Amino acid sequence: MANTISGLWRGYRSVPIVYRIAAAFVLGSIVGLIVGEPATALQPLGDLFVRLLKMIIVPIVVFTIIMASRQLSPSNLGRIGGQVVVVYLLTTSIAIAVGLLVSNVIEPGVGLQLTEASVSPEEAPPLTEVLLGVVPENPVSAMAEGDILGVITFSLVFGIGMTAVREEFEEGSAVHDGIQTLFDIIEAGAEVMFKVVWGVMEYGIVGVFALMASMFGQTGAGAIYELLMLVLTLLTAVGIQIGVVYLLLIVALLVGQSPVAFLRGSKDAMITALSIRSSTGTLPVTMSNADENLKIEEGVYSFSLPLGATINMDGTAMYLGIAAIFTANVVGVHLTIAQQLSILLTALLASVGTAGVPGASLVMMSVVFSQVGLPLSAIGMIAGIDPLLDRLRTMNNITGDLAVTALVAKWNDSIDLSSGAWNS
Ligand code: ASP
Repeated sequence: MANTISGLWRGYRSVPIVYRIAAAFVLGSIVGLIVGEPATALQPLGDLFVRLLKMIIVPIVVFTIIMASRQLSPSNLGRIGGQVVVVYLLTTSIAIAVGLLVSNVIEPGVGLQLTEASVSPEEAPPLTEVLLGVVPENPVSAMAEGDILGVITFSLVFGIGMTAVREEFEEGSAVHDGIQTLFDIIEAGAEVMFKVVWGVMEYGIVGVFALMASMFGQTGAGAIYELLMLVLTLLTAVGIQIGVVYLLLIVALLVGQSPVAFLRGSKDAMITALSIRSSTGTLPVTMSNADENLKIEEGVYSFSLPLGATINMDGTAMYLGIAAIFTANVVGVHLTIAQQLSILLTALLASVGTAGVPGASLVMMSVVFSQVGLPLSAIGMIAGIDPLLDRLRTMNNITGDLAVTALVAKWNDSIDLSSGAWNS
């Protein structure tokens, strides 16, 4: 008996985690649809998974960024950072254009009636506030509040300071050797956190089952059917963005590698994003995939990925455009090309300002809708199926972060294309 159990357990463990999570995703969805409302009681088990992931975000970001500043000079960091930001903005603009194009063809929302709901408009934060926010007033509170941009800045400054001071002191002096030891400890810390990610993912199998059962227990299939065209529009746009822009254009053409290898290396992060609906929450897995599977150096991914989780949201941006066209169709308004261009610009800025947390788009939607005079009450209608749509766009968001990171790493000779997922 004991032998059978341990044999079963070994068999279970020999299946790669991502497939076990995928099975939990499907089974959880089925259970939620069958059981209905009572399945929402499982939510705390899902929340536990998300909390476990969130718990490791700050240490992973701090440790890996400090390691990166040991490898790179400030000027190299600046160059890489510049490239990352420019490509992020480019891919987001393309994503919105894709979203607008697809929705102009599919025309979601035509023939639907608006169900009233009151939503209060939100203001986009002023640009100066966003830029100033990059520098935290207090690093400890930035860490405590999970303010990723603030944590990135402080860790970079601290790491660069460590490297500079180490160079000033002679080898053998207490300060020089102390810094060396501190670097070693931080490197060990990063390794430990990556180990922990995989422990958390083992629990993720239960967590994802619970999250899916609870979501479908709550929404049921009816809500999805009603807004099927909206779901299809987002699905098509996400398919084009991932398939054409990331896999063909970036991975195959610019990085010169097989899209299948890229997907093999990124699949854990993609399925986690699909399950937990948060780019920031997925960050530990995204970083671990970049490090262990895509073989990208810390010098690039340690800040491009946390930065991407906060500012690079292609799925979110395209969704804001799609939702605007959907709403215009529901209320029978025709959006001119000029209005669609203004949606593009607003959605780009709004996506940069959107937090990588579940449902964040709904808040930003009011900014975009106000811009072109669409009724905010439509947001209430969309909110019903947002838990489903959020998965697709979050998966798109983090896949974009990884593709751009691989590209910038390639430009800077910071990726080993002969090992890891590229070579199996
Ligand atoms: N949930 C998304 C993310 O974390 C943000 C959103 O579009 O709501 O990436």
